[in-house]
Amino acid sequence: HTRSSCKQKCMVVGGSGFLGRNLVDDLLTNGYTVSVFDVRETNPPDDRISFFEGDMCNLSDLSTALEDCEIVFHCASPPPSLGNRDLFYRVNVTGTHTLVEACKLTRVRKLVLTSSASVVYNGVDLKAGNEQLPYTTSPIDYYTQTKALQEQIVLNANSQELMTCAIRPHGIFGPGDQQCIPGIIAAARAGKTKYKIGDGSNLVDFTYVRNVTYGMVLAAESLRAGSQSCGSVYNITNDSPIPF
Ligand code: NAD
Repeated sequence: HTRSSCKQKCMVVGGSGFLGRNLVDDLLTNGYTVSVFDVRETNPPDDRISFFEGDMCNLSDLSTALEDCEIVFHCASPPPSLGNRDLFYRVNVTGTHTLVEACKLTRVRKLVLTSSASVVYNGVDLKAGNEQLPYTTSPIDYYTQTKALQEQIVLNANSQELMTCAIRPHGIFGPGDQQCIPGIIAAARAGKTKYKIGDGSNLVDFTYVRNVTYGMVLAAESLRAGSQSCGSVYNITNDSPIPF
């Protein structure tokens, strides 16, 4: 392969998960050649996708999988509900360092990270928060703490050779969601509807998964030499927050 013959080849790290799988579908629809790298294969085999099983903390697993890739989308993380400090540090921090290293080794051109809006949440309500907010100084859990570190690793890696940016959604809903809406429905089915925290005017931000994947594809397409997307973060949301 020459570099130009594989211009549209991309890798979705964490592509077996909820967001990753939706992104794979969007990329295929947009004419990209798609590979997936994940510790597990949960989707039925699909001959349009090259699947690589591996751990993103393993440089050799990643380097093999990234051969000839132009764009990498990073959508891998342990689920936020786990309280396992070591696992979050291992995957989100060490794994992200390893991914950046593998991208450099294999001369990947673009890296788009799925970060999280919670990296700027200090326990105080945010309304119409923008990308200039500083990182939280009191992260609510290890997930958030390591998402903030992960984002800085990716943005600091931005260079002429490897252009990077990060997308910050908050809650994501849509087909394939295993955590958010199913949890709310299960609680409602179990009759757990009597509790209210606050006066009912709390707001929470949810984004439809296709808005997130569309934002990620646009982010990758806008990463070009000299573009202001390089090294930038982008909040992503639906039009307005939902009363919760
Ligand atoms: P998910 O759990 O459905 O998918 C994550 C995937 O990462 C899984 O397939 C898992 O096997 C894989 N993975 C975990 N550790 C790995 C490792 N060491 N090596 C390779 N693969 C590994 O989660 P999701 O909801 O699709 O989230 C995707 C990304 O979006 C995450 O970075 C998450 O922090 C971010 N995010 C999600 C939401 C949300 O509401 N779902 C909101 C904001 C940000």
